[in-house]
Amino acid sequence: MSKESFKDYKTRKIKEHRDKIPRNYRKTYDRAMTGRSIRAAINSQCIECMGYARVEVKNCVSPQCPLFPYRNLKSPDFDKDNTPS
Ligand code: SF4
Repeated sequence: MSKESFKDYKTRKIKEHRDKIPRNYRKTYDRAMTGRSIRAAINSQCIECMGYARVEVKNCVSPQCPLFPYRNLKSPDFDKDNTPS
């Protein structure tokens, strides 16, 4: 049995992951995986993190997450500096 190349491993893993993503979020994932859109990567990761519930991304209150500063969110429970009000 031949060892799988890293390129084949990567292609397989991306396909396996993509197949689990709801169809309406696959374009964003595809854009993220080109490596040319940090915004698509953040959006794709955040929507996955919140179980593909868009409203939950908007309501994310996990300031300890490294992506949180990049969300540019306005939560009613947080002031404009994203500190608890
Ligand atoms: S910023 Fe919030 S929604 Fe995005 S990955 Fe982090 S915890 Fe999840």
